[in-house]
Amino acid sequence: MCRVHNRVLYIDIDIHHGDGVQEAFYNSNRVLTVSFHKYSPDFFPGTGHLDELGHSLGKYFSLNVPLQDGIDNESYVALFKSIMEPTIYTFSPSAIVLQCGADSLGCDRLGAFNLSIAAHGECVRYIKSFNLPLIVLGGGGYTIKNVSRCWTYETSVLLGLEGSLPNTLPHTPYDDFFSPDWKLHPELAGGRNRVENMNDGEDQDGSVGEVARNAWCSVSYDARGSARLDAVGSRGNERRGMEG
Ligand SMILES: [Zn+2]
Repeated sequence: MCRVHNRVLYIDIDIHHGDGVQEAFYNSNRVLTVSFHKYSPDFFPGTGHLDELGHSLGKYFSLNVPLQDGIDNESYVALFKSIMEPTIYTFSPSAIVLQCGADSLGCDRLGAFNLSIAAHGECVRYIKSFNLPLIVLGGGGYTIKNVSRCWTYETSVLLGLEGSLPNTLPHTPYDDFFSPDWKLHPELAGGRNRVENMNDGEDQDGSVGEVARNAWCSVSYDARGSARLDAVGSRGNERRGMEG
């Protein structure tokens, strides 16, 4: 891809940090990686801290949005859009790769977020709306019936057909698998399935996602392939240590 495209944006919404792709392009200013993931020392792969920014020419070309258990639809989608919009406009990629790991859905066997299929798919719809050449990939996902639901829905989003897809699943030899609701959009984060949201700090600015938002919305890129962190709000200024 880098032979054809000058600037490639890689976005990863799998619940695990996109460590391999970040590592591959850590010194490069031609591939910008952005990963939204659960960050905890005891959660695989244990990387993806805010301070992992890229190195040398690649500084500020590796962005990480570390999150805690239980993030909900509203805050995830708002955070995703508020970071991706300025990033796409200033980095100006000629192509985008979007990794759609479904382990960030609620009810995942390994994951611990509260995302619905509609919210996960909204991230796909949003990136598609920029009308840039786009490759969409699968990824992780450990509650298999929801992985198939999610990627079916996201295929329809990419084709612009999500509005005409019925919520009731068609009868197939796999009906037992999708009981008891046989829906495309089951409730994944209600009642006892809901994971406590650990992302809210004492104040809104105190959450890890907000710190990332304040920092990454202030990074700008120019056509010559350099990046800089512009003056940001009070919370972002505290992150100035990242520049060192
Ligand atoms: Zn994963």
